[in-house]
Amino acid sequence: MMKNTQPEPWRVKVVESIRRIDRDAREECLRRAGFNVFGIASEDIYIDLLTDSGTSAMSDVQWSGLMRGDESYAGGRNYYRFEETVHTIFGLPHVIPTHQGRVAENLLFSTVLKPGDVVPNNTHFDTTRANVEANGGVAVDLVIPEGREPRTPHPFKGNMDLVRLDACLAENRGRVPMVLLTLTNNSGGGQPVSLENVRGTSAVCRKHGVPLIIDACRFAENAWFIKQREKGQGERAVHEIVREIFSLSDGCTMSAKKDGLANMGGFLALRDEAWVDRLKNKLILIEGFPTYGGLAGRDLEAIAIGLEEVLREDYLAFRVGQVTAFGEALAAAGVPVVEPIGGHAVYIDARAFAPHLPPEQYPAEALTIALYREGGIRAVEIGGVMFGKPDPERPGREILPALDLVRLAVPRRVYTNTHLEYVAEVTAGLRANPSALRGVRIVKQAPVLRHFTARFEPM
Ligand SMILES: *Cc1c(COP(=O)(O)O)cnc(C)c1O
Repeated sequence: MMKNTQPEPWRVKVVESIRRIDRDAREECLRRAGFNVFGIASEDIYIDLLTDSGTSAMSDVQWSGLMRGDESYAGGRNYYRFEETVHTIFGLPHVIPTHQGRVAENLLFSTVLKPGDVVPNNTHFDTTRANVEANGGVAVDLVIPEGREPRTPHPFKGNMDLVRLDACLAENRGRVPMVLLTLTNNSGGGQPVSLENVRGTSAVCRKHGVPLIIDACRFAENAWFIKQREKGQGERAVHEIVREIFSLSDGCTMSAKKDGLANMGGFLALRDEAWVDRLKNKLILIEGFPTYGGLAGRDLEAIAIGLEEVLREDYLAFRVGQVTAFGEALAAAGVPVVEPIGGHAVYIDARAFAPHLPPEQYPAEALTIALYREGGIRAVEIGGVMFGKPDPERPGREILPALDLVRLAVPRRVYTNTHLEYVAEVTAGLRANPSALRGVRIVKQAPVLRHFTARFEPM
């Protein structure tokens, strides 16, 4: 049983049917998809834990907000509400809407970066790194050493290593147009950054005269961790913690598909005017007029409401509590999970789960396949398939990453504790007989981002 004493702060008004097709049908789906769960239609998935991005359930207030959409080309009323909400929550005066977080990244980096510029971050998310590199920049990850270890306990494993940041800024004087800080650290398992570390990062940036931009995708979950774990913060309201975090920054990029509780959207918010005109001109070129930025007016309304709802403390207590309880239920069943458990997902260490499988047989992919076959559950591999690269020294072999993880991302407000208990039970069943897991071989792959479309064969 999942020990989550924090019940849902909502009741259900609309339901969406999901179905669990039988085992033979699941086997057939796997075969047709080349054993890659990205290739399976969502109708054939029972519990979908592929991502927490864009998968949130909207509230009745958000749905009714859609009816107040003002689809005027310029100056629509939803924009003004959206802008006002972003000012109030983040305290940042200039707001540029975009249709996804990565467009905010692309706009910023394509406007500000020069070839050879260095961009430090605790850990770049994959779209962030790709957008830095596509604009000629060098993306540097400076998370504290504990942030790279799967089982070292630390309350804020997303923290920036301030000594290395200081050294990096000193070494690359004039070549660092901004420092990024990702809240929570998605690529590091959804681990939070402490307020003290945000203050420290901001101080190092100010010392070197470099702006600090926050990758704010999970800002509310991060603020909740600060309230729960950081000395002296327990009595503060989450919205006050959020205001302080962003008061230490010069701006943020945001994907509203995470803590915006919306299915699509994003924005860029900045304190200083310096970059704003150039950014808006570029926005008009690639997304649209600055009062809609690639979104329908109704979407801006849903995002504005979502940004307010995500800061409700009963919501955050349930949200983070549910993910933690899910991870603890898995750990109690002997499933090796990455600890401490992060804010939006639980990660299984697949090499420890199935020690008989060598990394060359992609143990995390093997577990992902087994979760679908046994339970109709969709997870995602973050390991050798996603990050493996041909080894120039050993033809036919690969350089594999240090970890093979399976991520079970929990969509916001979508699944009940019973759904997650079911996932924990299926996973525990596989763990009881790990030697039944079969490794895989790649039979077809794309030259880049192969994990989306690769086809496999069981060994
Ligand atoms: C999702 C995400 C992004 C990119 O946002 P999209 O809306 O998917 O384009 C950037 N940074 C982090 C940390 C993310 O989680």
